[in-house]
Amino acid sequence: MTKKTHSFQAEVAQLLHLVTHSLYSNQEIFLRELISNASDACDKLRFEALNDSGLYGDQPDLEVRVSFDDKAKTLTISDSGIGMTTQEAIDNLGTIAKSGTKAFMDKLSGDQKADSQLIGQFGVGFYSGFIVADKITVESRRAGTEASEGVRWTSGGMGDFEVEQIERAQRGTSITLHLREDAQDFLNGYKLKEVIAKYSDHISLPILMEKEEWKEGENEQPGEMVKTGEWETVNKASALWTRAKKDISAEQYQDFYKAISHDYEDALTWSHNRVEGNTEYTQLLYIPAKAPFDLYQQGKHAGIKLYVKRVFIMDDAQALMPQYLRFVKGVIDSADLPLNVSRELLQESRDVRLIRDGSVKRVLSMLEDLARHDKPQAAAAEGSDGVVDVVSEDDKAKEGKYSRFYSEFGAVLKEGLGEDMANKERIAKLLRFASTTQEGLNTSFADYKARMKEGQEAIYYITADTLAAAKSSPQLEVFKKKGIEVLLMSDRVDEWALNFLQDFDGTSLQSVAKGAVDLGKLQNEEEKKAAEEAAEAFKPVLAQLKEALKDRADDVRATSRLVDSPACLVVSDSGMSLQLARLLKQAGQ
Ligand code: ADP
Ligand code: MG
Repeated sequence: MTKKTHSFQAEVAQLLHLVTHSLYSNQEIFLRELISNASDACDKLRFEALNDSGLYGDQPDLEVRVSFDDKAKTLTISDSGIGMTTQEAIDNLGTIAKSGTKAFMDKLSGDQKADSQLIGQFGVGFYSGFIVADKITVESRRAGTEASEGVRWTSGGMGDFEVEQIERAQRGTSITLHLREDAQDFLNGYKLKEVIAKYSDHISLPILMEKEEWKEGENEQPGEMVKTGEWETVNKASALWTRAKKDISAEQYQDFYKAISHDYEDALTWSHNRVEGNTEYTQLLYIPAKAPFDLYQQGKHAGIKLYVKRVFIMDDAQALMPQYLRFVKGVIDSADLPLNVSRELLQESRDVRLIRDGSVKRVLSMLEDLARHDKPQAAAAEGSDGVVDVVSEDDKAKEGKYSRFYSEFGAVLKEGLGEDMANKERIAKLLRFASTTQEGLNTSFADYKARMKEGQEAIYYITADTLAAAKSSPQLEVFKKKGIEVLLMSDRVDEWALNFLQDFDGTSLQSVAKGAVDLGKLQNEEEKKAAEEAAEAFKPVLAQLKEALKDRADDVRATSRLVDSPACLVVSDSGMSLQLARLLKQAGQ
């Protein structure tokens, strides 16, 4: 086969332009991306070889090698992973297949500053090599294919790439970067080791580099580092979650988070546990600080990576985390699942059910912990036992985090009311709302209950498209007059989610936009009488109105909920609320 030139898919060309122009200030991330691809490729081989051990051939070791050539000004990252066929190289390195990446591309505005923020939310991947290289050569051979079926892929990172068939003795992939003038400080063993330690220490495969030695110069020539031909492992090469908690620093936890989430920001919090009992597993779960751009995209799944006895099994293991916790990132490593577990099998496994229940509980307790420490605690508070507790640094660090979490993910959490019956109560306690009597988005049902008027029997709330609309609704008039607090809800999911919550801690929830508002004991005898008299007096008028509106309204009645406005629309108790009706109409139902 001769050389063939192919064009990049349009999105790739666009992405390449962006990567090289927006990320030059953070050059070194290319190494993290290429090592992570090498490690993925080894994971894939290990996984495929579960069913076909012949794939290892005569090369059982899975490893990554990083080397450089300061004469040729090249840096090479090689792996003994799964490798690529010619067609795979064309597809994987010339197009963007992942829907998430495509969606990302659609969001790009062309405004460099905004776009470089966005780019932080997704993995820049293979193309990040072009941050430091003006030419990349990839040589690869798929495990299980003949030596003659190797492939060489070359590109200058502009519009196209070339592909040719080559002879290649070993399976796996070598990626050679021809470094740009301004990236030649990567031709240095110390520098490379430093970057590898920073980003890739947690990679569970050995990353090898050739040992160097200082050689004094002869005949007044300066000395230099020379390669010894001996290779050494330069990372810890043990999966982070398998190490003891006390041996892992906060910084290492955060670095690992960034590596698995592709987030550039620190996670808000995490939880790392070994669970023993009915089923044995290790969980390392993170709550991000920022919502990803595709949080509401259809088919968005939790970012949980599943391992079985340290062997990577799959990304986005949906069965391990419910939809309403899809923002959680992390790793679950099971000691009990079979290695050949499939997505279908996962759905039915008892172990998976136990792991999932345990992980949901863990996430909810992380959130409860943040919620408890959200507001600044008094510097020294007297505990119930009369002992003065000093607020620890740890607790201080948690201040404000729940509010941050809630403004990013609160609406998603609400979906849990409908999705997770077993944990409904715990989820309800974590919800926060705006209210007619409070500033900001921080009233919990419990706060509300503590402020309820004497004789008040229900938690009142109103739903609307926007907070402003909710606030100015005529349906609130009587509540304002009587000084009764009403929760204001304006998230799209509120209406749907609240359907699943009839009461909170024994107090019923009542929408002020539904049916005849029952103020119960809040209305005194006189007011009740006046209302009844008014209803009587208006009977003929109401009958006429009802007749005139008979196709458009179920009923017309006198109300005590209005103070200033002459009339308002309400729905019957059992009916869909107006907001839900509008929502369904928008959705074309
Ligand atoms: P991602 O890793 O998120 O899939 P990348 O841009 O990093 O995206 O890589 C694109 C694809 O190229 C990978 O999914 C994989 O199929 C292929 N690829 C990249 N590097 C290697 C490698 N070292 N060995 C085998 N395949 C690779
Ligand atoms: Mg990648």
